[in-house]
Amino acid sequence: MRSKSKIELELKVRNETPLLISTGSAQQGFADFTFIRLVNNRPCIPASTFKGRWRYYFSYLWNAFFPEEKCCHYLGRDGECHCPACRIFGGKGFQPSRVRLTDLVVADSYDSVIRHQVAINRYLRTSQDKALASLEAVDRDADWCGAAEIILTETEMKRELACLLAALKMMRTLGSNKSRGMGWVKIDFRLRPAIELEELWQYLKSDGDSQ
Ligand SMILES: [Zn+2]
Repeated sequence: MRSKSKIELELKVRNETPLLISTGSAQQGFADFTFIRLVNNRPCIPASTFKGRWRYYFSYLWNAFFPEEKCCHYLGRDGECHCPACRIFGGKGFQPSRVRLTDLVVADSYDSVIRHQVAINRYLRTSQDKALASLEAVDRDADWCGAAEIILTETEMKRELACLLAALKMMRTLGSNKSRGMGWVKIDFRLRPAIELEELWQYLKSDGDSQ
C-alpha cells in the first residue's frame, strides 16, 4: 500500500472589496439578498463554494502544466472518472474527496454594506421592470478563517500539491457581482508540516521535468 501523508492548512481570506455569497434567492428582511450565515448568525464562505473555485483553478493549472493527463469538466459529467481533479476533489462513484475543508467564518469585527442593482434583460439589453434588488454584502477588509486537510500519496506530493497551492494563490475572486468589482479576495495559508513553497513554484516553472 502506498503511504499517505496529511497536510494541514490554516486558511485566511481577506476581501479587498465587498463580498457577497448569498443563498441565491430573495431573503426576508431589509435586503433582497444577504449573506449565507451560520447558526450563530455569522456570515460564512461555505466550504462547498470555496472548494468549487479551488477545484476550478486546480484543473486550470494542471491542464496548463501537465496536459498529458487532463482534468475533466466536472459539471454534467456522467460515470466514474479518475482524472487528477476527481482523484483529489472527489468524483462520481466511490471517490471521496481528499481535500477536507471547513466553512470560512468571518472574524468578529466586520461591517455590512448595502448595494443596489438593476437586473438587465439579457435579450433587450434594457433594465427590467421591478427588478431593483438590494444586496447586503460584507464590507471590504474583513478576515475569514477556516482550515483544510489534504491527504496525498507520496507520488502526488509534488505535482498535485504544487497545483493545489498555486491554485489558492490564483484565486482572486469569490461570490457574486464580480463584474461590478465585488468579491476581490486575497488568500493566505499556513502549512503543517511546513513546506518550502519556493521549491514547488520552481518545480512548476521547470514544467515538472525534474520529477
Ligand atoms: Zn474527472
